[in-house]
Amino acid sequence: MLLLPEKINLGVKKMEIFKAKFIEKIIRTPSVASFRFAPEKKIEFLAGQFLKIMFDEQNLSNNKLNKYLSFSSSPAESYIEVTKRITESDFSGRLGALKKDDVVLFQGPLGKCVFKPEYRKIVFLIGGIGITPVISIIGYVFKEKLDNDIVLLYSNKTEEEIAFKKELDFWRQEARNVKIYYSLTDCTPKDEKCIYGRIDKGMVQDNVRDIKERTIFIFGPPRMVEAIQGVCLELECDKKRVLSENFIGY
Ligand SMILES: Cc1cc2nc3c(=O)[nH]c(=O)nc-3n(C[C@H](O)[C@H](O)[C@H](O)COP(=O)(O)OP(=O)(O)OC[C@H]3O[C@@H](n4cnc5c(N)ncnc54)[C@H](O)[C@@H]3O)c2cc1C
Repeated sequence: MLLLPEKINLGVKKMEIFKAKFIEKIIRTPSVASFRFAPEKKIEFLAGQFLKIMFDEQNLSNNKLNKYLSFSSSPAESYIEVTKRITESDFSGRLGALKKDDVVLFQGPLGKCVFKPEYRKIVFLIGGIGITPVISIIGYVFKEKLDNDIVLLYSNKTEEEIAFKKELDFWRQEARNVKIYYSLTDCTPKDEKCIYGRIDKGMVQDNVRDIKERTIFIFGPPRMVEAIQGVCLELECDKKRVLSENFIGY
């Protein structure tokens, strides 16, 4: 039997166990890398969902070697991609040691915190590694030429830690319906498009004046999610419009 930790949402697409071949590793920042895989068959999922990678096939509930990662690829792609903050853990080591054509076991898709076309106005309030499902969602909106009005407020410590900056800058330039603000907490931003500071009430009020009209997505490590939920509370946003996914395990 597969064990899911408490608080993990069940999926809205049929969950399966499947195998996929490793294709390549892409370095995103000094501490973040993406891993691309070719699944044995097309995996249907919704942008925003996650899956479980299982390096211990004998003991599927081994949560040191079997971990949840969000899709950072869009459902429109033929490959699947996950993106991990690389740590000293055995799991990070196993990912980093993958060689082309190695076969890996997955379980998924999972998660209900997903993009829906009827969310006409969206804001993502994101810190650090929480960007992964946002890349899947914006990639999907862009590829499908959808006109949902999207704002992303994306906070990192330093400029070099902004994962997917190239992709985000491209969408910001090419897609009129996508606005992106980078905020940096640990240095004075060199890039004139960056804002200095944490995502707090003032920063949101200054940059997302119509937040109460938007569906709010918050993804990331639990402490970050809690802090940003607090900001939404301060701003008196309707709780029903706030969708959060905790990256439990950080
Ligand atoms: C829905 C979801 C989506 C996620 N998406 C991503 C993603 O896209 N990218 C990403 O990098 N990470 C994501 N994570 C987190 C990921 O699953 C790992 O937990 C995280 O990357 C840390 O793993 P590690 O091997 O580097 O750290 P470790 O060194 O193994 O763990 C770091 C710390 O967390 C503790 N811990 C580990 N596992 C758990 C657990 N299951 N419950 C409670 N505490 C635990 C450890 O004791 C340790 O103190 C997601 C998690 C969830 C639940």
